[in-house]
Amino acid sequence: MSVKPIRLFGDPVLRTPAEPVRDFDAELRRLVKDLTETMLDAPGAGLAAPQIGVGLRVFTYHVDDHEPGHLINPSLDLSEDEDEDDEGCLSFPGLVYPVKRAWGVVAKGFNMHGDPVTIEGTELLARCIQHETDHLDGVLFIDRMDSGQRKAAMKAIREAEWWGDPVPRVRVSPHETGGQAL
Ligand code: ZN
Repeated sequence: MSVKPIRLFGDPVLRTPAEPVRDFDAELRRLVKDLTETMLDAPGAGLAAPQIGVGLRVFTYHVDDHEPGHLINPSLDLSEDEDEDDEGCLSFPGLVYPVKRAWGVVAKGFNMHGDPVTIEGTELLARCIQHETDHLDGVLFIDRMDSGQRKAAMKAIREAEWWGDPVPRVRVSPHETGGQAL
């Protein structure tokens, strides 16, 4: 298993735009596998590479009963129709808020072998693709909320048990320091 730790809100990697994939190599295929296993383990409906600390334009998705999928270097065409529904994010554990998104999306990109692929989705799949593509631009779902929802979400984040320890903690050395501060 290659389940990776999921980065939480507050970790700067989540605000850093990811780079396009140029090499469709074994390392990329391992990244897709890690993302898929981490997403299924969470479990989540989608996961973007920056959420496991990798700054590449790759995400995976797993919606309804379909096989898990992935998309690399996505570009999106959004429907004009909108849809508001509850949305969560693995980088904000326990938080779910209504977010307005395009109802449908046509996403073009590549699979891990470098073949061009197109994914057409509506409702949950469309929402997932928009949410994950946002991650690749350093955009988070709180940015898509109206100001009232965002205020409520920020309050809940500050009260969340995980907040304030977003970056993996370096363990304090158990060794004696001879009374010296290090
Ligand atoms: Zn997310």
